[in-house]
Formats: sequence, C-alpha cells, structure tokens
Amino acid sequence: MSCPECNARVEFEHWESVTTTLDPEMLRVVLEGRINLATCGKCELSIYVDTPFLLSSPENHYMIWFMTEGMPSELDDDVPEFFKSAPKYQEYRQKTRMRVVRNRRDLAEKALIFESGLDDRVIEYVKATLRFSRQPGRKHSDSLVFAGRLPDGKIWFDDLEGEELAIMPPGAPTLTFPNC
Ligand SMILES: [Zn+2]
Repeated sequence: MSCPECNARVEFEHWESVTTTLDPEMLRVVLEGRINLATCGKCELSIYVDTPFLLSSPENHYMIWFMTEGMPSELDDDVPEFFKSAPKYQEYRQKTRMRVVRNRRDLAEKALIFESGLDDRVIEYVKATLRFSRQPGRKHSDSLVFAGRLPDGKIWFDDLEGEELAIMPPGAPTLTFPNC
C-alpha cells in the first residue's frame, strides 16, 4: 500500500477477521477503533483501511460484520444451502447474536456492549430515551456512545459532542434476552 499523502510505501498487518478467544489482544485493538489502521512511517499520516472485517466471539456468542456502505448486508449470502439446513447451523444461529455495522465506531461500541454482557437492543433503546429526554426536537443526534459498565453495575454513555456524560443506574437496562 502506498501513502495517499506522500506516496511512501506503508507496511501494515491487514486483518479480515478476529476471533476474540484466539486473539484477545486484537479485541483491544478493535475496541479502540484501531483495527486495520496503518500509519505512514514517513509523514505519520493515519490511514484507515476500511475493508470487510468480521469480529467473532465464541465465548460471548456474537459475530459482528463490519461492512462499508455498498457491500451486502445479507448475512446468510455466503453460506451454502446444505449447511444452512443442518441442525447444528440452526442451533448456532439461535445462540449467536449477529450484527452488521457500517463504521468502525459502531463496531467498537457493539463489541464493547457484548463484551460487557449487555443487550445491544436495550442499550439502543436507552440511548434513544436519553437523547429524547435531553433534546426533544433534535433529529439527528447520534452522538451518544456506550462507554462501559462500572463495577457497581451502572452503565455509562459518552457524548461525542462533549456535552455530558450520562449514567444509568443498575437495573432494567442490563437485562439480556436469549435468541437474539
Ligand atoms: Zn505518508
């Protein structure tokens, strides 16, 4: 790969997938939004290589596909028919949460939610509620990002627009649902 800024040759490790149990240190890289991030040795430009990427966790039962705009989002597309009809596959699909994300921020957030043992649908609901209660008229505010779970069970959100940090008490939002 060559640097788009200075044209120097840039070497970097390209990942198409990471399995959390096999590469626990790479999970950290994904959570920090640094997966497939190259840095030019000459001009120090950060180059985000946004190619299809799969993060899977057999331990926490989730798979997250990072697919940039315009790529297929139908998860089963590449699975052969005979495999799909196998009982094992059906069982696997039932137990594994499968998600598609379109940017690396969402990839990191989704992974952090699942690694924290939470249900992403509940988190999205809580975010929508917080957003609405703070600014009812605002249409496109998606600046709230799940930021972690405190030892006492509280979950917190970061506002990327830097306005505030919202903290939810422990309780209902931490519910998880099977078969999602
Ligand atoms: Zn460069």
